[in-house]
Amino acid sequence: MKITIIAGARPNFIKIAPIIKAIEQKKDSGEKITYRLVHTGQHYDKNLSDTFFEELNIPLPDINLDVKSGTQSEQTAAIMVAFEQELLKNPCDLVLVVGDVNSTMACAITAKKLNTKVAHVEAGIRSGDLTMPEEINRMVTDSISDYFFTTSITASENLLRNGADKSAIHFVGNVMIDTLYQNQNKFTPPSFWKEHQLESKNYIILTLHRPSNVDEEQSLINLLLGIDKMVGYKKVIFPIHPRTKSILGENNLNLKNIIFVEPQGYLSFMYLIQNSFAVITDSGGISEETTILNIPCFTMRNTTERPETETIGTNTLVGTSIENLVKVYNEFLLKGKKESGIPELWDGKTSERIVTILLSKK
Ligand code: UDP
Repeated sequence: MKITIIAGARPNFIKIAPIIKAIEQKKDSGEKITYRLVHTGQHYDKNLSDTFFEELNIPLPDINLDVKSGTQSEQTAAIMVAFEQELLKNPCDLVLVVGDVNSTMACAITAKKLNTKVAHVEAGIRSGDLTMPEEINRMVTDSISDYFFTTSITASENLLRNGADKSAIHFVGNVMIDTLYQNQNKFTPPSFWKEHQLESKNYIILTLHRPSNVDEEQSLINLLLGIDKMVGYKKVIFPIHPRTKSILGENNLNLKNIIFVEPQGYLSFMYLIQNSFAVITDSGGISEETTILNIPCFTMRNTTERPETETIGTNTLVGTSIENLVKVYNEFLLKGKKESGIPELWDGKTSERIVTILLSKK
């Protein structure tokens, strides 16, 4: 079986790493399986791309389509045009896409139009919020994929409701968590750990990059000023996403507690998360990781496509207003952590299950 694996953006790299390892293992045990790795070039900054290949031991891509930035449509179209050429030159039995970025949707469409089967890893999750570009990517990808690998029963049920064939849906768990377990013994403090006098539980991690929080400059500034005041004497480490950085520009906010740092590599970011007092974020992936690491997570969004991080895990949705964040945070200070557990099959063996199932489909 010849598989083409697609990765374009930071969360994709974290998801493909264990799948590639599982393929290599099957190959070593004599299974007929090969893969070609296509990097679309959607993320191209060193600290959003190369660092993840190095730290997670992902082999260098066979090709980089080098699409870079653009509007949603420009980027999607550029990926489709470039991937069509790639797939015509290097046909395969199956294109495997992960997550919900533009590369996921663009390559799924291109593959199907060339009559190539598509497997979607992290299929079926839905926020119900069509203002999120990722929700559109999820819906389109799932409407044309041949095999669906899901992280929860809820995601499988969403797919069934949308008319997917039951025999094509496989509840296998979460590949992000495979990566977490495979690398947990390598988590390392960032270079600024001592400089900022960080100690276990004396700081909060903040990440923000969703349009609903960062596209409007003044609301972003109000949010940061509000968080700076809310945390009292706790430090807040803010690895700032390039998207957020470009919106803040040269604004000097005179913040007391928030420390801006570059986007972190996986190993130092996860060290920071594992040792933090709490996390404030609008990332979906981070709410899964904090659930595994039992770290309180406050998600600055009105909806989540990962409800199990809230019903089972440590996540609390707080909406996008600073007033509500302050209210929920103060309640947490009074009452402490909520009780949480680990979602079913988030056990570090998901990639192995995926590859075994794919091989049974030949
Ligand atoms: N991440 C990282 N360094 C950072 C911020 C995030 O390694 O500075 C990792 C994080 O651990 C998670 C993933 O990137 O696994 C989430 O990426 P992002 O927030 O871009 O995507 P989303 O989850 O929102 O799709």
